[in-house]
Amino acid sequence: MRHDFLDELGIEEVNPGAGWGKDSWIDDPDARTIKSISPIDGETIARVRLVSAKDLDMVLSRSQEAFETWRVMPAPKRGEVVRILGEELRKKKDPLGKLVTLEMGKIVQEGWGEVQEMVDICDFAVGLSRQLYGKSMHSERPFHRMYEQWHPLGVVGVISAFNFPVAVWAWNAAIAAVCGDTTVWKPSSDVPLCAVAVQHIANDVMAKFDLEGIFSYVVGPGREVGEKLIADPRVRLVSATGSTPMGQRVAEVVSTRLGRTILELGGNNAVLVDGTADLEMAVRGVLFGAVGTAGQRCTSTRRVIIDKQVSGEFVHRLVKAYESIPIGDPLDEANLMGPLVHHGAIQDMANALEKIAQQGGQVVYGGETIDRPGWYVKPCIVRIRGDAPIVQEETFAPILYINEVGSVEEAIAMNNMVPQGLSSAMFTTNLQNGEKWLSHVGSDCGIANINIGTSGAEIGGAFGGEKDTGGGRESGSDSWKQYMRRQTCTINWGEELPLAQGITFGDE
Ligand code: NAD
Repeated sequence: MRHDFLDELGIEEVNPGAGWGKDSWIDDPDARTIKSISPIDGETIARVRLVSAKDLDMVLSRSQEAFETWRVMPAPKRGEVVRILGEELRKKKDPLGKLVTLEMGKIVQEGWGEVQEMVDICDFAVGLSRQLYGKSMHSERPFHRMYEQWHPLGVVGVISAFNFPVAVWAWNAAIAAVCGDTTVWKPSSDVPLCAVAVQHIANDVMAKFDLEGIFSYVVGPGREVGEKLIADPRVRLVSATGSTPMGQRVAEVVSTRLGRTILELGGNNAVLVDGTADLEMAVRGVLFGAVGTAGQRCTSTRRVIIDKQVSGEFVHRLVKAYESIPIGDPLDEANLMGPLVHHGAIQDMANALEKIAQQGGQVVYGGETIDRPGWYVKPCIVRIRGDAPIVQEETFAPILYINEVGSVEEAIAMNNMVPQGLSSAMFTTNLQNGEKWLSHVGSDCGIANINIGTSGAEIGGAFGGEKDTGGGRESGSDSWKQYMRRQTCTINWGEELPLAQGITFGDE
């Protein structure tokens, strides 16, 4: 069945694999195509043409040409373009949110939420376009002025994962745009239609300002098109979101040519529950974190590290909550959990469950696949030792590990034991435990919360993690600085030429 909202978004049966403006697409009828398959029912939604290395080269050239004019437009004027982009996204929130759901499988509330995040980051970027501040410093030399300023960087490559098919592009593209950069986006091949739809919206906005090439996209496999993108010296910054092995590869290639990276990689996020926690609140926080997006968020809750005194009661309540989760078609608002992204994800979950059994874990609830078209599973709760090897890995599926501990210190050590360091949370009503958690001897993650879960960050904060999560920061706060180059300037307005550090050089 073809959904009406596909027409609203300009999605055709076969779609171009690259574009950079209203009439600027690469649409070679002889090109290979990929099918976009909906995880809801396993049916093909539409197809997208794959680009070649030559096509990518052309898109990068267009992007670089566009940079030459874009960078001289005053930042607040660039902000105006991004403001209109936000307005157009607002108008398309309903169909675009539904496409996210159809192509990726998250429930439609989350699909709309993702588009709202795009709107929010556009709003943020518009304000930012008047706040790209540099510092001024007092010079040690008389009649000298020193200051630093921020200049646009160039072409930014954006590589995104399947699980946030539109928001991650906006986090990067809106900030990069006000900074004066152009972006070339390579979306995940699991969700290429979302990129086609976003490009149509971006094209309309660019056309209003008689622009093109500020926002471009290319569709192709990571190992071919992605590899070419990251190796190209025209791409000054690569912002890559995805698995840790992918990020390691990007880091290797981009650092060899001394390019810049922002790496937003895998997480293995824990919720700590101490003996004083409000258990009802903790159950709700863990439920959304672990079951939301069917456990396919980088910030999904994968571990609960809980005081053994309250563990029995907590798990009892959590199982009841899991039993009440309606699972099914994510376009139906009555459902709170949709499918996994594809058959491979079902396989990964089954493999993890096998390892769990081998490593002494006990399934408390769920884990079965559901017999219906599409890729549906029951979310799973497992009791297991916190130091079991499987617990150290990110399995991108709704498996939640319950690890019991005897003290807050032990809980914090267990939180920090895993290689990843993205998000973390503690449920507590004890001030000392809370402060310890947020202190330098507490969580080692990029995000540390109290009495809220691990997922659902707001765009105003810098988003990202430590260790195997890659160390990048996107979105709010001063993340924009990564999209610009810093220049320190010293101006001598005196009539002498004094040297710094009091050095004399052939002076009388
Ligand atoms: P993935 O690593 O398989 O793919 C991510 C993207 O990288 C895709 O566009 C893919 O085509 C591209 N890619 C793969 N190999 C490449 C290469 N050699 N060169 C260039 N590009 C290449 O990840 P996925 O399965 O799509 O997404 C799930 C993963 O993403 C999870 O690990 C999740 O935690 C992570 N993720 C992290 C964040 C974050 O902000 N930290 C956000 C979302 C997802």
